[in-house]
Amino acid sequence: MDLRSCLQVMFILVAAIAPHAIMARHLHIHKLSSSIFPQHLVGSGKGHNIEGIHNVRAFLQRYGYLSTNVETKGNVFDDNLEFAIKSYQKFFNLNVSGILDAETLELMSQPRCGVPDVFINETGGDGNGDRDHPIGLHYSFFNDLKPKWSASKYNLKYTFLGSFPEQYKNTVIQAMISWSFNSVFAFSEGSTDNTDVRISFEVGDHGDGSPFKDKNGALAHAFAPEDGRLHFNAQHAWADGAYPDKFDVGSVALHELGHILGLGHSDIRDAVMWPSMPPNLKKELSSDDVSGISALYDGVEED
Ligand SMILES: [Zn+2]
Ligand SMILES: [Zn+2]
Repeated sequence: MDLRSCLQVMFILVAAIAPHAIMARHLHIHKLSSSIFPQHLVGSGKGHNIEGIHNVRAFLQRYGYLSTNVETKGNVFDDNLEFAIKSYQKFFNLNVSGILDAETLELMSQPRCGVPDVFINETGGDGNGDRDHPIGLHYSFFNDLKPKWSASKYNLKYTFLGSFPEQYKNTVIQAMISWSFNSVFAFSEGSTDNTDVRISFEVGDHGDGSPFKDKNGALAHAFAPEDGRLHFNAQHAWADGAYPDKFDVGSVALHELGHILGLGHSDIRDAVMWPSMPPNLKKELSSDDVSGISALYDGVEED
């Protein structure tokens, strides 16, 4: 094991034991990494009228914490926004204050998946009902309806579309193999007119109602079963493995394939289904990811 791998393993171990200690120390060293949310928002709370707060409202709406009926314009920090920030803080196991503290803004600023964390559905519930777990933290599904593939589709056919980079195809296939070792699924190559999973690199508005705005936009997104579309944002810098300022295709593929199979986001930081993905990090399926897929397809719930 070389030094870099060794340090990564150490980081993952320490992060699993003390995620908040790591986050807190990180914040002392670095300023907010984002251009999306300006530094002056740190510390703002209900009743404040502060330039840039509409961007926070739009962010929380995009990821399911605020109803789409709420007007995102204006810079008044109102009750709705406070409630949404508390929901976000609760989801990510932060201090639930309703105040935009540095830790909350830092997490909002991290590169992440474009799929919402919370889905309001027609039953009035959300996908997080499944997270009411004795220990408190775990995987989720898209919503209370738990969309999943029918048993006749457990052998999924996949196709790379358009200009999917040749050098990353095997990386994505390795991610499929990881899921197949840990679920009821098998994957085999399909053809354009006979496929279940369609994987592509996309830019800007690519026709599915969720445009990739720019390199500050979502890293990737995928759709719930049995849709099968999996899109990487081509505007980000990608790599096969952990490299500075680049995102690991394999880790993001594992995450998006989780959505393809029916998983929502997890609030376990080292799970593949955790919504944020920093550069220079490689992740593998965690026990939480495997528990999630087992709960969905084998009906095996954790104790
Ligand atoms: Zn996601
Ligand atoms: Zn898309």
